[in-house]
Amino acid sequence: RAAIDAIAFEHRYAEALEGAWIAVTPDVPPAPVLLWLNDGLAAELGLDAALLRRSEGLAMLSGQRVPAGARPLAQAYAGHQFGGFSPQLGDGRALLLGERIDVHGQRRDLAFKGSGRTPFSRGGDGKAAVGPVLREVIFGEALHALGIPATRVLAAVATGETVRRDRPLPGALLSRVAASHLRVGTFQFFAVRGQTAMLRKLVHHAIECHDPALRGDARPALALLRAVRDRQARLLAQWMGVGFIHGVMNTDNMTISGETIDFGPCAFMEVHDPDAVFSSIDHQGRYAYGRQPEIAPWNLARLAEALLPLIAEELATPTAAAAIAAGNAEDAAIAAATDIVQGWTAVYAAEWLAVHRAKAGLMPPSVTDAAAEAADAVDRALLQDLEQLLTRHRVDHTLGWRRLSALRRGDAPAWCALFSGSVDPSRLIPEPQAEPDGLPSDVRAWLVRLRVRWADADAGTEATAAAAAAMDRVNPLYIARHHRVEPALDAAVERADLAPLLALLAVLRDPYTERDGLQDWAEPAPPQATAMYRTF
Ligand code: AMP
Ligand code: MG
Ligand code: MG
Repeated sequence: RAAIDAIAFEHRYAEALEGAWIAVTPDVPPAPVLLWLNDGLAAELGLDAALLRRSEGLAMLSGQRVPAGARPLAQAYAGHQFGGFSPQLGDGRALLLGERIDVHGQRRDLAFKGSGRTPFSRGGDGKAAVGPVLREVIFGEALHALGIPATRVLAAVATGETVRRDRPLPGALLSRVAASHLRVGTFQFFAVRGQTAMLRKLVHHAIECHDPALRGDARPALALLRAVRDRQARLLAQWMGVGFIHGVMNTDNMTISGETIDFGPCAFMEVHDPDAVFSSIDHQGRYAYGRQPEIAPWNLARLAEALLPLIAEELATPTAAAAIAAGNAEDAAIAAATDIVQGWTAVYAAEWLAVHRAKAGLMPPSVTDAAAEAADAVDRALLQDLEQLLTRHRVDHTLGWRRLSALRRGDAPAWCALFSGSVDPSRLIPEPQAEPDGLPSDVRAWLVRLRVRWADADAGTEATAAAAAAMDRVNPLYIARHHRVEPALDAAVERADLAPLLALLAVLRDPYTERDGLQDWAEPAPPQATAMYRTF
């Protein structure tokens, strides 16, 4: 018996949701080579990294040999893609192998991506290429290190095959770890088919996976919708805080778990710009940075629609005459679902404020509820005005936030220089609390407001140092900048040289701590390169 056959998997999804999947065997790649293994994640999953590196482990990670405990299957889902509904998408190149209970007791899906055709492949080849596979490695690890929920890659394997895109490319597959692969589109798949019993099972399964506290809730569909709303609102606030652009926020790419998934064409913004778009297929800017907080509740509304028949059941009063009750329940369901979806605005606003207050080093004032609302409005305006300044003066999002801590420590020029590109740096006065000459007046006026709010009389006190250090723990210095990502991918694809990728991952593993010798990694991309940049 081989060691990989002793790896324990559970199959709750397969067992609970008969009819939501099709068993499929992965393709056998001709010449698999392990490109990258996530040692930390392997340990979390209770998997022996040394085993995974051996030929037996590679046989498993490449799809060559399905371990005895696994049960590969393609999951069914539908989805709105760029606003248009496809009733059947599903795993066209992915396969769920099973679920691992990790060392924290958490259930985690292990799935392939790029393992070959499935009944859901439509015209696709079921394959993936080395570049996009390693791209998913980089951004999954980057988001994770930023403290943002995301699916992560356990292993990337070159298949030895050539895949045809606009040109022939080296093929690869990855194994992906997710809290689950339940998507808004999973619910849409059964809703559009009128399969209410399956929807009910899905809700139950989702609650088992992600909301055990809701077990036994009298209105599970409503409760789940609210829980998903709250997770997605938190996630979106986090994305916005770090300038993350998902790139393809279709409803099949929005999880029920609140993890970032299927971020193929994603990017981190350079200059703060609500209109920033990098995806080559997002011609209308539907998924531009600044539109993400509108798209997420639009997607949530699609989940609400899918759940309506269940919500109606939950709200039906057993006492009223059946026919009337059914009609009333439908109206009541729409009202209740609408209420939850409309609640997004307030939940997201609160999450956004919490994230951005922390970035600016603002403590929520300890005041009464009535006064808190006014204080929130003041801070919200202050923080939104900073974003506008960053946009107007073409300032890098990451550094515009990060260097606020320098400002707080008394180093005004470090931050002000971002707004004073045309100003002679020798004219910057390196004096605590002094703003350099030539600082645009709108920035100068904003700084006055910020200082009032900081109300730190003396920069350099212990309290100020602590506040600045806290800011550095939420404002990354090193992000996955495209002028670092793309050369690392090119080296891997064109020369099978993984050293630049490993160097990049080592930097991104700790995005918050400034380290000697990494100065270049904090530098923005050349503006020209950003203007031309397209993701796929
Ligand atoms: P994505 O844009 O990656 O979220 O994928 C959207 C849909 O297209 C999903 O159903 C995928 O499984 C499917 N898909 C994407 N690429 C391929 C491919 N190369 N072969 C088969 N299906 C694919
Ligand atoms: Mg997808
Ligand atoms: Mg995909």
